[in-house]
Amino acid sequence: MTQREKMLRRLREQSVPWDVVVIGGGATGLGAAVEAASRGFRTVLIERADFAKGTSSRSTKLVHGGVRYLEQMNVMLVLDALRERGHMLRNAPHLVHDLSFVVPVFGYFGLPYYGFGLKVYELLSGKLSLGASHLLSREKTLEMLPGVAGEGLKGGVLYHDGQFDDARYAISLLRTLEELGGTALNYVAVTGLVTHGGKVAGVKARDVESGDEFEIAAKSVVNATGVFTEEILTMGGEAKGSLLSVSQGSHFVLPSSWLPSGKAMMIPRTSDGRVLFAIPWHGAVVVGTTDEAVDRASVEPHALEKERKFLLEHIAKYFGRRPSSGEILSMWSGLRPLVKHGGGATSKLSRDHTVLVSKTGLVTVTGGKWTTYRRMGEDAVNRAAQVAGLPKVASRTLELKLHGWSDSTAAVSEHERVYGSDLSLIQKLSHDDPSLETLLHPRLPYRMREVAWAVRQEMARTVEDVLARRTRALFLDARAAIEAAPAVADLMAKELGRDAGWKARELEDFYAVARGYLYEDE
Ligand SMILES: Cc1cc2nc3c(=O)[nH]c(=O)nc-3n(C[C@H](O)[C@H](O)[C@H](O)COP(=O)(O)OP(=O)(O)OC[C@H]3O[C@@H](n4cnc5c(N)ncnc54)[C@H](O)[C@@H]3O)c2cc1C
Repeated sequence: MTQREKMLRRLREQSVPWDVVVIGGGATGLGAAVEAASRGFRTVLIERADFAKGTSSRSTKLVHGGVRYLEQMNVMLVLDALRERGHMLRNAPHLVHDLSFVVPVFGYFGLPYYGFGLKVYELLSGKLSLGASHLLSREKTLEMLPGVAGEGLKGGVLYHDGQFDDARYAISLLRTLEELGGTALNYVAVTGLVTHGGKVAGVKARDVESGDEFEIAAKSVVNATGVFTEEILTMGGEAKGSLLSVSQGSHFVLPSSWLPSGKAMMIPRTSDGRVLFAIPWHGAVVVGTTDEAVDRASVEPHALEKERKFLLEHIAKYFGRRPSSGEILSMWSGLRPLVKHGGGATSKLSRDHTVLVSKTGLVTVTGGKWTTYRRMGEDAVNRAAQVAGLPKVASRTLELKLHGWSDSTAAVSEHERVYGSDLSLIQKLSHDDPSLETLLHPRLPYRMREVAWAVRQEMARTVEDVLARRTRALFLDARAAIEAAPAVADLMAKELGRDAGWKARELEDFYAVARGYLYEDE
C-alpha cells in the first residue's frame, strides 16, 4: 500500500471530526499543520496539486530577515524574520545554511550607507547572528565577484544570510507532520465548505486521481492557499477581489562559472529600485527576482517578456556580459500573495502576514514569506484553537527539529545533504539494487535511488513531482530534466504499478510544464 493510500484510509476511518483541517500544502499550510499536530490536535492537510507546487517551490531560496524591509524601516518584520531564520537553521541544518553575500558598491556614499545598514542587520539577529558583516576593498570585491563589471566600483560589503532548498524543506515538513501523527494528502482538492448553522464545520473535497468526492468534518478549517486564498473565501460566500494583490517574480538559472568564488551577490537597488540577487545554489547560479503586478493567479505562471528583458539587462550590467540562451539552464516564476493596504506598487506592499477570521469561523492565513512560515502557522493555529474551543496548548515548534535533522556535512554533496539522516537509507536502496545507482542524466547529480525513495517515502505521484520538487532537476537544468523524464517515468510506473498509457500521459503532462522552464530566444 502506498503512503497516499494509507493516508486516504486514515481519512475514511476517521469517525469523529478532525480538530483542524488545513487547506493548502505550501509553506504556510504545512507550517500550520505541523503546528496543530505538534500541539496534539487531530490534523489533516489537503493539497489539490503536489506539496509546494505553488509559490513555495519557486522562491529565491533565501532564509532571510529582508535587508530591503530594513531600508523601509520595517524593523519588527526584520527582527521577527531574523529570529525565525536562526531557528530554521537550528531545526533543519540539513536544509538551511549560512551563505556569504557581497554587495558591490559603485558610489562614494554607498560604502558607509550599506556598511552601516548591514551592520544593523547583523546586530538585529543578536545571538542568532550568522557572522559579522564588513567592508571590502575594491580589489577584494573583484576577487570575490570576478565577473562583476568593474567600472565605477568603489568596494563592497560582505554580510551573511541563510539559504535553503524550499521544496525539500516542504517535504521535510510533510514527513515531520506524519511523524507527529498528522495526515496529509496531495492531489485532493477542496471544492466547497461545509457549514452548520452558519459556522464552518468541514470541507467538501475531490480526489483528483480517482474523482471520488467526500466530506471531511472538522472543528476548525484553516485556509492557507496562497494566491488562491480568495477562491476559498468565496466558497464561504465572501466577496472576491478585496484582500490580495498578486505579484510575479521570475528567475534565471546560469552555470556555476558565473559566480566562481561561491559567494552570492546582492544588488540593493537596481535602476528601478528593486533588489536583485545572484546566488550559488545546487551547483548553479540563481538570478532574480522581478516584481510585476499580475491580475490573475495561475498554477503555472510564466516569465513575462518584460521580466526576461529586465533580467538580461541587469545580468549584463552587473556581470559585464549577457548570457547566451544556451547558458540559461532554466527559468521559473512564482506568485506572491500580498495583502492589500490601499493602492501602490506591489514592491511596496507589506511582506508581513495576515490572519483573518471570517464570520463563519474560517481562519485564513496569508502574505508573509517562507522564512516566517512557522510564525504564520503558530498565529493561525492560535486563532483556530480559539474559534473551535480546542484546549489551550503552548506552541513548541520554535525548538522542534524537523524530519531528517542532521548537522553532519562530512563528505556529502550539496544535493545529498538535503536528505539529512535519510541519506544512509537512500544509499542502501542502491546497495540492495545496483540498477538504482544509475544517474538520471550526465548533467544532473541525481540517481534513480532518489526517484524510488520519492515514490516510496515522499508521496511523489507524477514525473513532475520527482523532477521539480523531490529532486530539483527542472529548476536546475530544464533540458536535462526533459531528457531524463522517460527513465523516471519507467521507474515510477514500476514502483506505482502503472501501465504504458500512464507513462505516455505522464510524459506529455511533464513536457507541457517543462517547456515553460526552457529559455528560448524570441
Ligand atoms: C518570486 C518569489 C521569490 C520569493 N523568495 C523568497 C525567499 O527567498 N525567501 C522567503 O522567505 N520568501 C520568499 N518568497 C515568499 C514565499 O515563497 C511565499 O511567501 C510562500 O511560499 C507562500 O507559501 P503559501 O503556502 O502561502 O502559498 P503556496 O506555496 O502557493 O501554497 C498554496 C497551496 O494551496 C493549494 N491550493 C489552492 N487552492 C486549493 C484548494 N482548493 N484545495 C487544496 N489546495 C489548494 C495550492 O495548490 C498551493 O500548493 C518568494 C516569493 C516569490 C513569488
